[in-house]
Amino acid sequence: MKDYKLFFIITILISFFISYTPAYAFPRHNPVPGGLALIPINTDLQPKVYFNKKPVAIISDQSKSYAMVGIPLTTSAGKQSVQIKWPDNSTENREFIVQPKTYQAQYLTIKNKRKVNPNAQDMERISKERVRKNKAKKLWSNQDVNANFLTPVQGRVSSIFGLRRFFNEQPRRPHSGLDIAAPEGTPIMAIENGRVIEAGDFFFSGNMVYLDHGQGVISLYAHMHQINVKVGDMIKKGQVIGTVGETGRVTGPHLHLGIYVNQTLVDPVFLLPEQKKQTK
Ligand SMILES: [Zn+2]
Repeated sequence: MKDYKLFFIITILISFFISYTPAYAFPRHNPVPGGLALIPINTDLQPKVYFNKKPVAIISDQSKSYAMVGIPLTTSAGKQSVQIKWPDNSTENREFIVQPKTYQAQYLTIKNKRKVNPNAQDMERISKERVRKNKAKKLWSNQDVNANFLTPVQGRVSSIFGLRRFFNEQPRRPHSGLDIAAPEGTPIMAIENGRVIEAGDFFFSGNMVYLDHGQGVISLYAHMHQINVKVGDMIKKGQVIGTVGETGRVTGPHLHLGIYVNQTLVDPVFLLPEQKKQTK
């Protein structure tokens, strides 16, 4: 009888612990346009890996290391290859196959027409902001990448990556991230340890923060209500960096999460823990 009670208490404690442990995920191999190819790499000789001449991050789980290649959304299905450069300057090509993937169209109505057809003054601002965004996405820092990502906001997925978008019936660039809808003021957590490399108010993205996770792995958080961090801050995984808002070009409060890998925006779902519900 006593043993039974003890067993009962331990079971409750274990299930409590499991339900309160935040879920982390290691990136998954999904070689599609907008996806990731994980290519096993022997890192003993510290090789450098390139895709389309851009340096590629190397990540490791308990047993293996991989080059994590971001595949641009514009890539056609078929054969691609990475270049591996060894310390003796010899090079090796490693091939992988990109599988086809079709992305749906999405039609959105934006009340603030200037966010769809900016005026001359807006255009000047947008081009200045583009320089800052490009600088952030091209940043390369040499530290090891911790690749166990967590979901930044608890909420409903309101728009998935890659949708071919029409704003007020005008074609615009495809959706470059993952939207998670949540009430204004919901805390946003850093998906991994990182350093703040850019933060500010942008025309389309609203209040936005960029975190560098090392070797070109960069996450960005857009349409924030409040930003709690500043450029140069070192951030721990799970740390609150601000709150959900509806700043910039939006139809309601949500977090837009973007993830760059080798200067390429990829579908965040291949890096985050798997979501239970998914809607368009
Ligand atoms: Zn979005």
